[in-house]
Amino acid sequence: MAFDVDFFVIGAGSGGVRAARVAAMHGAKTLIAEESRVGGTCVIRGCVPKKLYVYASRFADDFADAAGFGWSVGAPTFDWPSLVAAKEKEITRLSAAYRANLAASGAELIEERATVVAPQRVRLASGPEVSARHILVAVGSWPTFLPGVEGLEHAITSNEAFDLPVFPRRLLVVGGGYIAVEFASLFQRLGAQVIHVMRASNVLRGFDEDMREGVRAAMERAGVMHRFGILPAGIEKRPDGALRVTLTDGEMFDADRVLVATGRLPNTRGLGLETAGLKLSQHGAIKVDDELTSAVASIHAIGDVTHRVNLTPVAIREGHALADRLFGAVAKPIRYDTIAHVVFGTPELAAVGLSEAEAVKRFPKVDVYKSDFRPMKATLSGSGERTIMKLVVDGATGRLVGAHILAHDAGEMVQLVAVAMTIGATKADFDATMAVHPTAAEELVTMHAPALRYENGRPVA
Ligand code: NDP
Repeated sequence: MAFDVDFFVIGAGSGGVRAARVAAMHGAKTLIAEESRVGGTCVIRGCVPKKLYVYASRFADDFADAAGFGWSVGAPTFDWPSLVAAKEKEITRLSAAYRANLAASGAELIEERATVVAPQRVRLASGPEVSARHILVAVGSWPTFLPGVEGLEHAITSNEAFDLPVFPRRLLVVGGGYIAVEFASLFQRLGAQVIHVMRASNVLRGFDEDMREGVRAAMERAGVMHRFGILPAGIEKRPDGALRVTLTDGEMFDADRVLVATGRLPNTRGLGLETAGLKLSQHGAIKVDDELTSAVASIHAIGDVTHRVNLTPVAIREGHALADRLFGAVAKPIRYDTIAHVVFGTPELAAVGLSEAEAVKRFPKVDVYKSDFRPMKATLSGSGERTIMKLVVDGATGRLVGAHILAHDAGEMVQLVAVAMTIGATKADFDATMAVHPTAAEELVTMHAPALRYENGRPVA
């Protein structure tokens, strides 16, 4: 049967664009449809603008630290519209680069919504239908909203937070995950008073307990006010525009904005996938096999839409591997066990592999190496910050199974620790590696005695 195209990609985010480019470069006739801006969540309203805002926020610490090193910087002021405009310029440049790369690969971009009407047929919002040998669903995820809170329509998500017309002086952040921690941390530094509420008893469920505690303390040192085990019960808009938030413990708080960050779900609603015979999970995720193909052989899915590891580099790697497999090359295997994660608070929390608690459940013997110290810069700046590092080692083999770093540039450090873990490094390999002095990272190769040892799930002396 002749098809209009070999490959129809729905969604021009990081993963979809990579898949389309690689497929086109293999000679596949490729169309890619995007209903919003090319670049997707990461470039337009996620990782990239977030990191730019994190950089902006850290000047607050730099100005405060400078005095300890002999500088007088006066009273700094911050102009939110200037930052928003600078960010906009940069993401426009990046989005144009994505378009240029697509065009150079030979993939054709269609700027409208596309939905699936049959296993090998897609309909464009403007009417035409396109037949495709393979369809890739790469539409990413979308923020969820807390159900059942009266007045929630007055709240925003991270989507809107980047472009607020007026800087929120009083911000209530809801949720304890990546987005909530990153936004609470950056908005507090930019000059907001942030109240951070969540249902859990600490931030970042699932991360190593010592690191969660370190992040909580760092946020509070910066001025963030935490309320644990508490959520908004209602939000009322006042005549002066302020939002009066009633919390579940009865406390009331007036905010300029309420930012809800309680998770993201696959963006599959209304995409027609059920019409093509696909059954979605209760969260709307597309279930795929090891080759990224759904239960319908011609429909594939990568990235957040599969709701597995919701990180941009994973979507990119999956998109690349799928296009290789479908159109002519040997796909590189994807390792999911040594994916590093970074929460871009200040300092950054980076992790790869298992937390202490997870390792203790999985291995009969576990050695934990830990270092908690005042970073060198803080000795003169006088800031109270701490750096915390932890290595989790399988006691039977000596293999490193987890690394956790709360430090400036921890994201830069963990990338290389992830390489070491990917090639199966042992604690002895770390010990044999010469330190780089004076750095914080040298602690990773100078922690000699375990702080704690476990056998069969219990700490031993
Ligand atoms: P997360 O999954 O990280 O966190 C969700 C938070 O919302 C948790 O604190 C969770 O609480 C809470 N929550 C979930 N449901 C409810 C509910 N019904 N009522 C109250 N609280 C609730 O989601 P985010 O939205 O922060 O981020 C989405 C994903 O995006 C991340 O998982 C990550 O994969 C990706 N991301 C990655 C970043 C990075 O790599 N730096 C940055 C931003 C996003 P509890 O802990 O109690 O379960």
